Amino acid sequence: MPAEKTLAIVIRTVPFGETSSVVTIYCREFGKLRALAKGAWRPKSSFDGGLDLLSISQVLVLRKSSGGLDLLTEASLERRFRVGRSYAAVLGGLHIAELLDVLTADADPHPELFDVAYATLRRLSAWRGDDAPVAGLLLRSDLAMLRLVGHAPETACCVECRGPLPATGRIAFGMLEGGVLCERCRSGRRAVVSLSAAAVATLRHVLEHPTATPPPDIPPGVAGEVRAMMSTYFAHLLGRPTRVAARLKPVRRRIS
Ligand SMILES: [Zn+2]
Repeated sequence: MPAEKTLAIVIRTVPFGETSSVVTIYCREFGKLRALAKGAWRPKSSFDGGLDLLSISQVLVLRKSSGGLDLLTEASLERRFRVGRSYAAVLGGLHIAELLDVLTADADPHPELFDVAYATLRRLSAWRGDDAPVAGLLLRSDLAMLRLVGHAPETACCVECRGPLPATGRIAFGMLEGGVLCERCRSGRRAVVSLSAAAVATLRHVLEHPTATPPPDIPPGVAGEVRAMMSTYFAHLLGRPTRVAARLKPVRRRIS
């Protein structure tokens, strides 16, 4: 089988032997692949920087027809993820890589998912200025990715009875049901968190405007609440917390 070329995001890399690596890449055409890159750590290899974590690279891959690792024969760096002065942006990049890994099955192509991750990584790379807008950018990509894999939370009406929600005060969100619950439907349910109307409105706004530029400017109090809710939602969806989630605390806007 000839080697196939595709644009890929490097989402994990593990050393293998003295000079090789097993890399997990998310390809625009092929979805998530695990591939052996022989001699990746040799000086002057045919991978030259193209396998650094969060890099976006053109890769040549030999697909295995039955099980086992694919073989990566070349990786040409297209865009390196640059660590700027923002810790939040770096964590955001790692979060995107983790979601690409845990939300997808192997070799299940999803070009739109790739495009969301690609666009977000480009924005986060070499992030300058205030950290606060990172929260809006990540919320937008989280919700877009969840929507594309069929797990977008319901925020417009009660997920159970489709009835209306109160416009003010606290609103229940059922983690197991994947959406907001009206007063009547919430009683007796497990894994329910209480959100402010502002937090629900923020989630709904981002879901309804997935491609808005720039991302929403979320007030710090609401950003913290929404991020905590998203971390809990991912933990229920995946059966465990994501590795980066606990560190993704929203940063307070600098006052100066
Ligand atoms: Zn209901």
